[in-house]
Amino acid sequence: MLAGRPLATVWVVVPTRTGAESFRRRLAVAGGAMGASVLRFDDLYTEVLALAGQFIPVADEAVVHRMVRSAIDSLHARARLAYYTPIRRSPGFVRAMAEHIAEFKRAMLPPDQLLEALGEAPPRLREMAAIYHAYQEGLRTLGWADREGAGWLAVRALQNLPELLRSVELLIVDGFDSFSPLQLEALHALRTQVGALRITLCGEHDMSRAAYRRFDRTHRMVTRRLAPEPVMLPPATMRPAALTQIERRLFAADSQPVDGGREVMLLEAQTQALEAREALRWIKARIQRDDLDPSDCAIIAPDLRPYQAYLREAAREFELPVRLVLGDALATNPAIAAILNLLQLPLLEWPRRLLLNVVSSPYFDLGRCGLVDGDALELEEAARAAQVIRGLDQWRDGLAMLAEAVPPAAEEDETPLRAPSGATARRLADAIDRLADRLRPAAEAALAEHAAWVLERLGDAEGFAVERQARAVPENAPRDLAALEALRQQIDALVLSERALPNPLRLTYREFIDELQGAVNAATYQPEGEQTWRGSRVYIADLAQARGVPFPAVALLGMAEGLFPRPLREDPFLTDNDRLALIDRGLHLEPRLRSDQQTVFYEAVTRAERFLLLTRPYLSPEGEAWEPSPYWQALREVVRVEPQKVRSESWLALAEAASRSELIAQALLRGSLPEDYEELGGTWREAQHARRVLEARLARQAEGELDGRTADLAPRLREAYGPQHVFSPGRLETYGGCRFHFFIQKALELEELADPEEGFDPAQLGTMLHEILEEVYARVTDAANLEALIESLGPVAERVFADAPRRLGFRPSPLWEAERAGLVEDLRQTLHALHAYASGFHPVALEARFGMDGEPLRLATQAGEVRLHGIVDRVDADAGGRLRVIDYKTGSSRLAMRDLEEGRRLQITIYGLAAEQVLKLGTLAEGAYWKIRQAEASALKIEALDFESQGGQRYTGVTGAADLAREYVGQYVAGIRAGDFRPAPPEGGCPAYCPARLFCWRYEPA
Ligand code: SF4
Repeated sequence: MLAGRPLATVWVVVPTRTGAESFRRRLAVAGGAMGASVLRFDDLYTEVLALAGQFIPVADEAVVHRMVRSAIDSLHARARLAYYTPIRRSPGFVRAMAEHIAEFKRAMLPPDQLLEALGEAPPRLREMAAIYHAYQEGLRTLGWADREGAGWLAVRALQNLPELLRSVELLIVDGFDSFSPLQLEALHALRTQVGALRITLCGEHDMSRAAYRRFDRTHRMVTRRLAPEPVMLPPATMRPAALTQIERRLFAADSQPVDGGREVMLLEAQTQALEAREALRWIKARIQRDDLDPSDCAIIAPDLRPYQAYLREAAREFELPVRLVLGDALATNPAIAAILNLLQLPLLEWPRRLLLNVVSSPYFDLGRCGLVDGDALELEEAARAAQVIRGLDQWRDGLAMLAEAVPPAAEEDETPLRAPSGATARRLADAIDRLADRLRPAAEAALAEHAAWVLERLGDAEGFAVERQARAVPENAPRDLAALEALRQQIDALVLSERALPNPLRLTYREFIDELQGAVNAATYQPEGEQTWRGSRVYIADLAQARGVPFPAVALLGMAEGLFPRPLREDPFLTDNDRLALIDRGLHLEPRLRSDQQTVFYEAVTRAERFLLLTRPYLSPEGEAWEPSPYWQALREVVRVEPQKVRSESWLALAEAASRSELIAQALLRGSLPEDYEELGGTWREAQHARRVLEARLARQAEGELDGRTADLAPRLREAYGPQHVFSPGRLETYGGCRFHFFIQKALELEELADPEEGFDPAQLGTMLHEILEEVYARVTDAANLEALIESLGPVAERVFADAPRRLGFRPSPLWEAERAGLVEDLRQTLHALHAYASGFHPVALEARFGMDGEPLRLATQAGEVRLHGIVDRVDADAGGRLRVIDYKTGSSRLAMRDLEEGRRLQITIYGLAAEQVLKLGTLAEGAYWKIRQAEASALKIEALDFESQGGQRYTGVTGAADLAREYVGQYVAGIRAGDFRPAPPEGGCPAYCPARLFCWRYEPA
């Protein structure tokens, strides 16, 4: 039209930012047009208002959100909100109201007209209209507009100033499939002002195809309002035959399929993760083999959220530059998560884990508070030693206690105290105080004051230099700086929105943090920062964002039932019946459940100019079969193409591998790496080793050096656990339960660093009950005197419980008093039951030690002489010198005869032998465990043993128990010295106290 006039003023209106970029690129390829401006409708309204001399502040999304909330609050305060009162503060409700208000405004429906049209409608609708009214009043009072309101004003300016856009010679509207009444009204007003108005719409003479449903409606609306003279453009001729067939025949009833060739491909992937990966591999192949540029390629999904993380990960691995148009969730950025942790500290009363996270975070320079590298570990040890759970007082008291404590010398078999003490503990206490001083927010303030305080905490002068810290890690700096900028924008928007409120309330710090958290949760950011919009990148977007933009190569993901077409759901605030009633009264609303998703699919697949890939997952996240979308089938009706099926372990031609790791994974599947890839030799060897490890761990039975047999360590183990080593029965029982458990907990001495919790743990409970029983029996002269025993129980228990928290290191729970009373009652019952159980036996030794400072028990076993030590809880004797050995237990697991027979309980027999042979207290006759809290003896009694081994050996009574114990001790010691630590979950599952369960590949829950 304007050929030969490059300076002509041309405005082009497109639906999206990407559409604008694409149009500019196409203009540049076609030779450019100096006078062309490419805009979206919002930009168009702004331009019109500027030309009309109207400069009105336009509220962005965050401001709109706050103003809607304020409108809801003010209606509630005036008792004009009843129906929605219960949900009035929910973020989802506020967002829904904001969306409906925007819809009313796009329909050019003012609040008064809506209220009038509603008449005697139910409160659900009238209250929504009232919220709209109050919101609009708020905007009007301030002299602000929202985006749609700017459109209203622009339309009015165009109607009042008929010459306003005379200078625009050509206005092109391109890439739309529908227009809102507001957009149509703007075009109507522009039509008589600009030199020429050209609207391009998809379609042909016959618009009856299902693919055209939405276009057809739009054609009719445009025709009704603008009365244009339609011109039919010739169809594009450059597309491959299969893509032309899709464009012309998709959803047509009478199509004959054509061959898809290499231009159209269908791919069925096992999971959505694999789908994302395969789409990127296909794109990479198009770039490398078909000479496309990354910016020529697009990945589109009906809903990008399930794919976003997978796409990022695969793009990084394949070294493909990508642009995810919707960005990433701001709350998932580690710098932002760390900042929110920091700001929550005073609110949540300085909980242990949160404080440790803050102190160890690389995003904060806490040097000014006196905290340095490694202090997080010191504080963690301090918290564990001093049982700090939360609260500045607990931190102060705990560190003060440690500052005064003298670290005890480490005893054999005990881990030395690692908690900070002395000057270190004092320095840490000062540092926590200084940190608390800097993190003391105002209890209540204006939102802007809270925001300024937060920004100060992030800065260099008064704060923790977050930006400087983020810059110090170059590989993550662009991502984190972009996120920090997005956070600042969110804070600015909150401040701005408060200024926009007529009577802003003062907020508590908690309310402010809730506001900030809500804003962060709703925000996204581009991890590549400004780079996102530079350079050539693969475009990744959802269907709405990809409207109207053609690409040479398009991959469309998510072609599965339930994903596309999306299930239509009734709008609970404005149902389709409500809408139809309002449409009957002449309002320009649209039914929501009207499905024209075939048009959306048609638009998506016709974005492809040269290559098209459709993918679908065939298994749901729950592992069930996932049916294809009906549109998948529709496409196959017009194009002959056999879908390829891909599983994670599918073979791939090595030349198809899109990254080094993928190439290695494929070579592993084949079992060899071709010579051409010699430079990957090192990685290949590592991968082969990794595969062998994995195979060993997945084998049914643990076997071999990759799953617990450490023959290499045998010489050192023979030395460490040689004839001089004194074993404890408990450790050997651990080995008998699971060999790897022994290796991790006893040989390597790894322990789980459990978080301190309120209350005592099972080991602390056991210590308290043992101490009480020992002292009660020690106090009385005659253990048969039950009355005397019961009488001494109270005072003894009182004394033990009184300093148990400090001495054993636990923080009493609020139930401590009640727990104590319950434990005393359990002990009283147990004293009664022990009295009844005595039957002529009386205590002759309590807490009797052997093999610790004196002579050990020596057992002759198949592994040679084995030495043992221990502390026997109690040895009773009868008048004939016959001994009964008792071991107190606070838990009651594994105390059956089978545990004795199968070598899981050795202790009671070994203690009996020690009482007889080392302590020389008499002749061993009986032995049992005593379940303190059940007040009964265990079913396991050594004198009751009657067991035949698989080899036919019979073991009976005390002598049999001693022989059996000797056999097991010999086996276990031989196994330990040989380095046999193969993991095998004990019968009934792995114990909660096995530290290996956090990483063990054979873990089975109990
Ligand atoms: S987790 Fe289970 S199998 Fe693994 S070491 Fe512990 S007890 Fe053995």
